[in-house]
Amino acid sequence: MFDVIAFDADDTLWHNESIFTMTQQKFREMLSSHGPEVVDQTLSSTQLKNLKHFGYGIKGFILSMIETSIELTGGNVSGKEIQQVLDFGQEMLAAPIELMPHVHEVVEELSKNFNLLLITKGDLIDQEIKIARSGLADYFAAVEIVSDKTIETYKKILTQHKIDVSRFMMVGNSMRSDIVPIVQIGGHAVHIPYSSTWEHEQDHPYVDKNHYSELKHMGMLPKLIKEKK
Ligand SMILES: [Mg+2]
Repeated sequence: MFDVIAFDADDTLWHNESIFTMTQQKFREMLSSHGPEVVDQTLSSTQLKNLKHFGYGIKGFILSMIETSIELTGGNVSGKEIQQVLDFGQEMLAAPIELMPHVHEVVEELSKNFNLLLITKGDLIDQEIKIARSGLADYFAAVEIVSDKTIETYKKILTQHKIDVSRFMMVGNSMRSDIVPIVQIGGHAVHIPYSSTWEHEQDHPYVDKNHYSELKHMGMLPKLIKEKK
């Protein structure tokens, strides 16, 4: 049934959003003279506005935190506070890779029978470092780091690797990025929800639940693939 199984990386293979959530908590404390809701809302709208310039990832997040602190303080944010934000970013970049449960065994097992692809968005260098540190790099036939995950992005990758979409499975935590575009081009998608997902990734067009599978955790994937054979 399948030739290629592709995986999203952040919050599918390893924890990622939790690092952003923790940093945002520290950022709220830094700007504690403003209410946490105001800080969250301003940061969120700044991030969305900046996505088209900076893309996804930690660097864009740092710049958006700096911009938010300038805006909320009316330009009175101190150099010391900006340094604090930069330090938050350094800590995020240095955070250890924590694999999700079952990931190592499942990826290793599936790599014996399928070509595995890793398709992730974010900063190039940051993602390359995370993949290297994850201990999973050798199981993947190829890694694609893209600026966004749209129908066009996936079509390009499928063409490039000469993959028949009907024999392609994409596994990920984001409905918007990993599931909806794949269902729309006729591939198989497996949604493994993460405990917290950025609201932007939750915003997506409707797809019929019958057109993709949903699993509680990665450990259930090999069985699902066998059933689909
Ligand atoms: Mg993800």
